[in-house]
Amino acid sequence: MFKEKYDVVVIGAGPAGSSAAYEAAKRGLKVLLIEKRAEVGSPIRCAEGVGKEGLEDLGIKPKSEWIANEVKGARIYAPSGDYITLEASMAGSEVGYVLHRDKFDQYLAKMAVDAGSELYTRAMAIGLKREDSEIVVRIRHFGNLYEVRTPIVIGADGFESLVGEWAGIRTRLDPKDINVTFEYRITGAKFDPDYTEFYIGNEVAPGGYVWIFPKSEKEANVGIGVLLSRVDSEKKRPKYLLDKFLKEHPKYRGKIIAVISGAVSVSKPLEPSYTDNVMLVGDAARMIDPLTGGGIIHAIISGRAAGETAAKAIEKGDYSKRSLKEYEARWKPKIYEKLLRNYLAKEIFVKVSDDVFNKIVDALKDYDFSRINTYELLKAIGEKYPEVVEELSQYL
Ligand SMILES: Cc1cc2nc3c(=O)[nH]c(=O)nc-3n(C[C@H](O)[C@H](O)[C@H](O)COP(=O)(O)OP(=O)(O)OC[C@H]3O[C@@H](n4cnc5c(N)ncnc54)[C@H](O)[C@@H]3O)c2cc1C
Repeated sequence: MFKEKYDVVVIGAGPAGSSAAYEAAKRGLKVLLIEKRAEVGSPIRCAEGVGKEGLEDLGIKPKSEWIANEVKGARIYAPSGDYITLEASMAGSEVGYVLHRDKFDQYLAKMAVDAGSELYTRAMAIGLKREDSEIVVRIRHFGNLYEVRTPIVIGADGFESLVGEWAGIRTRLDPKDINVTFEYRITGAKFDPDYTEFYIGNEVAPGGYVWIFPKSEKEANVGIGVLLSRVDSEKKRPKYLLDKFLKEHPKYRGKIIAVISGAVSVSKPLEPSYTDNVMLVGDAARMIDPLTGGGIIHAIISGRAAGETAAKAIEKGDYSKRSLKEYEARWKPKIYEKLLRNYLAKEIFVKVSDDVFNKIVDALKDYDFSRINTYELLKAIGEKYPEVVEELSQYL
């Protein structure tokens, strides 16, 4: 059973938690990794898309056990039905592979265990208390209550994180910074396995988009994200809108074999993401890309940074805020600027009218995206629709 004391307790065995546990255990720390669900990674709550470059940069070699499909790129559809095609490398951190997300999470968790972490599933953290400059974590496991002591807690408990609030970090989000999601796994339709597809527009998905992520020719994750602040009636609920979309796009209709609901933050990343004895990683620290909703790669980056910082703190014997500040110095140079930039882009995206979406896609549909940059994009749009550039520049 649980030991009385660990060097680090990691709460949540998603990509962030398992990566943190792996890095800490690899450095010889006594690590406890707890997961409230019965099985790591299951049930899946994800569209399962991940960028190839993101994985490559992390040194994670693709494995057939957790890759369902590899795509060439993404198609982005305007409300008019026109679309632009982007190569995978241009299409953000969700486009490249479609995963078996449960197997992927289990692969990362196994790495953490092989490095020496103790993993318990059906083990749910239910509170923290500070005692003599350490933390006591209260855990419910098969109906029994346990307490373990540790100088460092890593909160990897996802979007619904409580660890931050327990530790005194305010993690609550504004409804305008939350996308509520609904997704079907559909089989028996005919999907294009080479492209991930996105549908944008205020009627289709207010403040978000519909996605089709093909796992094969026959199977895909078909989902929707809608800005919570725009859900002001039954007809704006994600399920209603997704069902409507499928009625209007019968080619994607098939047998529904799974239903998934959840939410993602589309906010700025949390600052600070640490306090005395505690670091927050991944979705718990709001590290999802606010424009695309992708968070797997960022979860791993921040998890690794927290595991490395924990090892340093244990070596120094200093678990104070001052010492854990190093955590931000490790994750920020890698993703902070991108998260802020995409937060600003999202703030513009949610204000754009369908007419403007149509004009942008119309102006860009024959554009060569291998030489994309913002200036050239605006130039291409401005040549055809100068009024659109004028409207966008108001927001910029
Ligand atoms: C519908 C949907 C589609 C998405 N699609 C994509 C996509 O295609 N690509 C992409 O990159 N990102 C996607 N995301 C986001 C992505 O899933 C997250 O960014 C990613 O899972 C973050 O990893 P994490 O480890 O921080 O959190 P999670 O993966 O959420 O892991 C948190 C873990 O903590 C556990 N836990 C929570 N509370 C406790 C507790 N008290 N005690 C013990 N355990 C606890 C949970 O059970 C969970 O296993 C999607 C999200 C949603 C909701």
